[in-house]
Amino acid sequence: MPQSPGHAPQPIVSRHVAVIGAGAAGIVTARELRREGHSVVVFERGDQVGGLWVYTPNVESDPIGLDPTRATVHSSVYRSLRTNLPRDSMGFSDYPFVAKDDPDRDPRLFPGHREVMMYLQDFAREFGIDELVRFETEVVRVGFVEEEEKWKIKSKQRHKETDEIFDAVVVCNGHYTQPLVSHVPGINKWPGKQMHSHNYRDPKPFQDQVVVLIGNSSSAFDISRELAGVAKEVHIAARTVKYETFGKQPAYDNLWLHLMIKNVCEDGSVHFQDGSFVIANIIIHCTGYKYHFPFLETNGFVIVDDNRVGPLYKHIFPPALAPWLSFVGIPFQVITFPMFELQSKWIAGVLSNRITLPSQEEMMEDVKAFYSSLEASGTPKRATHALDDKQVKYNNWLAGQCGCPAYEDWRMEMYYATVKGRLAHLESYRDEWETQHLVLQAYEDFIKPASNQVSDGCVFP
Ligand code: FAD
Repeated sequence: MPQSPGHAPQPIVSRHVAVIGAGAAGIVTARELRREGHSVVVFERGDQVGGLWVYTPNVESDPIGLDPTRATVHSSVYRSLRTNLPRDSMGFSDYPFVAKDDPDRDPRLFPGHREVMMYLQDFAREFGIDELVRFETEVVRVGFVEEEEKWKIKSKQRHKETDEIFDAVVVCNGHYTQPLVSHVPGINKWPGKQMHSHNYRDPKPFQDQVVVLIGNSSSAFDISRELAGVAKEVHIAARTVKYETFGKQPAYDNLWLHLMIKNVCEDGSVHFQDGSFVIANIIIHCTGYKYHFPFLETNGFVIVDDNRVGPLYKHIFPPALAPWLSFVGIPFQVITFPMFELQSKWIAGVLSNRITLPSQEEMMEDVKAFYSSLEASGTPKRATHALDDKQVKYNNWLAGQCGCPAYEDWRMEMYYATVKGRLAHLESYRDEWETQHLVLQAYEDFIKPASNQVSDGCVFP
């Protein structure tokens, strides 16, 4: 193994680092690594920067996503998707996601998916990240070479396979591509169709159908409302409700919210735990995604168990392989892009020896204590990486490690204002934003000189 963490400070060094994926996480990671003086290669199997935000009308051959031999479509974005957070809160710290004075762009506070992709592509161009990316190059294997104490990456570009050696690997491959499907008793004999929201693009095919959606996340919310415009009936089966109440939804005459599905039957009926039932044509699983690292060989040092990726110190470093293997973007229920930025700043600083990690044993103890705290609070394993209210503490901790300013207050206030806004204007929260003073606060920050935003502890070119 290369020199392990937890020892006396070492001289600042530059490493040769592979980044897997050129979505939001990969491009900001590449920027932070390069700012820190590392040499970087980004592998991207798609043909452009943007990851999930690169919309495609294509869907997978198996609509429910269970066939392991199917060709994977990366993006889960549907045609009408708009962000579920205000744009200003989503942007990277020193590259604000503000509306552009350009008729080709979407100026809305909650813009459509294309605007997010264009923002990410602008960012990549601005910081010269494009030139670090090998497009249409899929990483098929990542393994540690003991003799060389380095990582070997096998990548595939069309039919050509290449092996390369790197000091460190940062995994930024996203986690919204492999569908997680819930078990529905009786489903094998049920005559209707099934699909996962990963393969939903637009409502047209659902004209006059009776549709049941399982799950009540942001996607289920958006898709159910869109379907209600064309389908005969739409029924949502939910474990819990956050914004709505069970029963018929007030703004619609064909949309209902039920408790979970109890079972389905050969006659096409879908029975809910609230005692009601419908004869339905299709079930859409809006039940989330699985972490999936098909290329990664770690001899069991990193495993995915019930959607817990672990063990990972602070959701980033597997203690036994730190800092030579790391992950950006594992936590969910967060403001994603600025968190990716802090995670990658920390990784970059650790790899150069500017920031010191605890010893392997100390990191492992921290992970165990974290798992115990989850257990004590009754948090299921699959929610290990759900941060939500814990994200402020997490981000502040990362910022402290990096010597960078913590999240601006207005960012989190925007996050919570969105939750409140949904309660007040369930059907139109994106267009009835009432907290304009937060946008003004953000703009005041954006126009401050960069030196006011970044502490001296950060390394900039
Ligand atoms: P991705 O964007 O998925 O990028 C991963 C990249 O890795 C892809 O380009 C992929 O091609 C590449 N890749 C994967 N495997 C390989 C391989 N083996 N070799 C080479 N390349 C590979 N977040 C928000 O902040 N606001 C929102 O409004 C919001 N809405 C969302 C809506 C939906 C429907 C979903 C699913 C998520 C949403 N998110 C939102 C969260 C979103 O995931 C993040 O914002 C963010 O885009 C994730 O970035 P990423 O770089 O981690 O992953």
